[in-house]
Amino acid sequence: MNSSFRIMQIKGIPVEINVSWLLIFFLFSFTLAQSYFPSAVEGLSSSSYWAAGIITTLVLFASVLTHEFGHSMVAIKEGIPIKKITLFIFGGVAQMESEPTNPATEFKVTAAGPLTSLFIALVFGAFYYLILSPGNIYSEAIFFVAQLNLIMAVFNLVPAFPLDGGRIFRSIVWYFNKNMLKATRISVGLGSVLSYLAMAIGFLQVFFQGNLFGLWLIFLGWMINQAGQSSYSQLVFKETFSGMKVSELMSTNLQTVSPDDTLEELAECFLHYKFGAFPVVYGSTTHGLVTLQNMKEIPREQWAETKVSRVLTPLKDAMILTPDTDAAEVMMKMAAQNTGRVLVMNNGELVGLLSRTDMMRFMQMHMVLGSD
Ligand SMILES: [Zn+2]
Repeated sequence: MNSSFRIMQIKGIPVEINVSWLLIFFLFSFTLAQSYFPSAVEGLSSSSYWAAGIITTLVLFASVLTHEFGHSMVAIKEGIPIKKITLFIFGGVAQMESEPTNPATEFKVTAAGPLTSLFIALVFGAFYYLILSPGNIYSEAIFFVAQLNLIMAVFNLVPAFPLDGGRIFRSIVWYFNKNMLKATRISVGLGSVLSYLAMAIGFLQVFFQGNLFGLWLIFLGWMINQAGQSSYSQLVFKETFSGMKVSELMSTNLQTVSPDDTLEELAECFLHYKFGAFPVVYGSTTHGLVTLQNMKEIPREQWAETKVSRVLTPLKDAMILTPDTDAAEVMMKMAAQNTGRVLVMNNGELVGLLSRTDMMRFMQMHMVLGSD
């Protein structure tokens, strides 16, 4: 789901397409060409249906893009630069360089998207009703685009965070309670209730009516639930660690092992100290880090004669930070490098160790002892 490729740049904003969008492109064109258009307008050639299907899908693509540009233009006007716009399976995301810092800005930036979709629906709808006569393939295509933009506007206004409606809801709560974190928690809570409701309705539809549309509802509910939870924990994370340095979180009570220790001895250290990793140090030189994972690479029978130096992750491959690295960035760096631990070094000297578990524990403590 993460592979995207850049297709163009509009007003300085790069536009990317996620590969999942290609699937939707095909599904939409296929459904329109094989089922929607043939039943709306009879008697045309299959190539006409396909041409209409593909062009309509491209117009829908442009509609989603315009929706995202709606958000982006207002964001830029409010002083928030846009990194890029990505179109993926459910629509699009305009990635802002930073989150809105006040509820009014969030309200305006968010409302601009659904309003854009609504505007497109009105223009195409008016065109259909006032100018075109129904029954030919052009008017059916225009009607379809109008309908889909209307659906896009309405669906996005469902108050399930992180959908637009959920963000609008958050900005209103935020305006009244002046607490962004609490407002987010309330909107994620509402979004969670709505997504479970959607999933429940989906299940009932599938099991009691045999209606496969229910599967779509279950999937959508699940996705929204996941997205809501993860954007909330990201926010808590940022709030918890903002302004903190690695030196305030790292453990300085270091238990090290020597590169000449055997794995047998190392196993005892793991059992005794119950740490997940040890820095490997000899004299004043740090050689690297050894984890349980490293140990597992060697069969048990060979532990007695294998030295730690053979399995350790050398310094050049380990993740190293300085004590004054911004703590909020660390978790992202750890995720990007797929590592759970970092060595903290200052001018070549080992000063601490920081693990993902340490950070999670601190975050829990902060949530329990925190003021709200
Ligand atoms: Zn939107």
